[in-house]
Amino acid sequence: MDQQLERVFEAVVARNPGEAEFHQAVREVLESLGPVIKRHPEYLEMKMLERICEPERQIIFRVPWTDDKGEVHINRGFRVEFNSALGPYKGGLRFHPSVYLGVIKFLGFEQIFKNSLTGLPIGGGKGGSDFDPRGKSDSEVMRFCQSFMTELYRHLGEYTDVPAGDIGVGGREIGYMFGQYKRITNRYESGVLTGKGIGWGGSLVRTEATGYGTVVFANEMLKTRGESMDGKRVTVSGSGNVAIYAAEKAAELGATVLGFSDSTGYVVDEGGIDLDLLKQIKEVERGRVSDYVERRPAARLGTSGSIWDVPVDVALPCATQNELNGQQARTLVANGVKVVAEGANMPTTPDAMRLLQDAGVLFAPGKAANAGGVATSALEMQQNASRDLWSFEYTEERLTEIMKKIHEQCATTADSYGVPGDYVTGANIAGFEKVAKAIQAFGLV
Ligand code: NDP
Repeated sequence: MDQQLERVFEAVVARNPGEAEFHQAVREVLESLGPVIKRHPEYLEMKMLERICEPERQIIFRVPWTDDKGEVHINRGFRVEFNSALGPYKGGLRFHPSVYLGVIKFLGFEQIFKNSLTGLPIGGGKGGSDFDPRGKSDSEVMRFCQSFMTELYRHLGEYTDVPAGDIGVGGREIGYMFGQYKRITNRYESGVLTGKGIGWGGSLVRTEATGYGTVVFANEMLKTRGESMDGKRVTVSGSGNVAIYAAEKAAELGATVLGFSDSTGYVVDEGGIDLDLLKQIKEVERGRVSDYVERRPAARLGTSGSIWDVPVDVALPCATQNELNGQQARTLVANGVKVVAEGANMPTTPDAMRLLQDAGVLFAPGKAANAGGVATSALEMQQNASRDLWSFEYTEERLTEIMKKIHEQCATTADSYGVPGDYVTGANIAGFEKVAKAIQAFGLV
């Protein structure tokens, strides 16, 4: 890393102790920006990087709720409003026991550049709680969401901050939170949350968008080598929102999806996974991967190793951060992987990323490859503003067009900085430049 950027990084670490994921996300971006500050030395004088690394606002709050037995629980809620240079803060809410400030800050930081890449007017933010929705009844989840929103609502607004879903937050949770927001404010402010249900302000394709977009991006990368998803062998990790719809789009483009996982294990189904069954188990029954194997004799449950041991052409990490390490990347390369596209945020560890890139694997960073979700959230906001509902076909067309443009931006930026095919550098620089220009235009605010 450039020495001046190294100093910026050291200051970030010192100011944000114990936030390993945030440090990792910042380092990855700063490592790409050496050539940018050579072209724009004024950014150093303006402390542009220090400004981008410091959230505009960080909110931490208590979330009290009672379970079905009447027992009281206290969780912690977060919203990090990271950067509003390009538009209202935009980014999901994560409910997972691993959530703490460092996770929310890494996600919020990534979100700034991702949202910039979409070309849509949205700033970066992220939030969530250490609440674990697994094993909770519907009414417990509802009471938690209501309590969470009772504090969060005062910080939101369609022109201020617009959350959406993420791990542990899907249509059900967004419904409860929107209901509580509407009740407290006495406003049907559709554009204040995205990922809403169809029929009360949601957009078609939002559910599918992140997974679909990731596969469109992977397909674009393959095209640069005269190939496509057609006929490829694919695995996805996770079996949540992103994983399911990445698998669906991959199959639609002619690939065979051989496996998926959750935090309890992984499944290999050599003939291609049964998506209807997977959706039934995960979206309706909220079950485990073992339930799939029980109902599908041809499939087997992985008991040792990981989903990355399965030989494939295309690997799509779609579960969580740092879920693909150096050793696993080595296995993928040895087995002939051609593409790794991140559906999740920062799923690949830094050493794994380097290893894949050095081996000539087409590697798509999450901030580019999974930007389809937030892009479609912005399309949901557009529909809310005009009180309209677009068709599935039209919305998907817009999504595909946005993903192709993001791919092109990353590729041409990488070319123009002398690192063709380096989508990490391309995404970081292209995302950063737009935000930096806006920050510069606003003066010191
Ligand atoms: P979901 O909650 O729908 O699904 C998450 C999946 O990942 C589940 O199968 C879950 O398994 C698995 N998982 C979570 N944590 C772990 C862990 N520590 N180890 C192994 N598996 C784990 O979340 P999403 O699909 O919405 O999100 C997945 C990733 O995609 C996240 O990184 C998120 O930030 C990112 N993303 C999501 C977007 C969206 O639109 N939803 C947009 C852009 C990025 P289990 O149920 O067993 O925990």
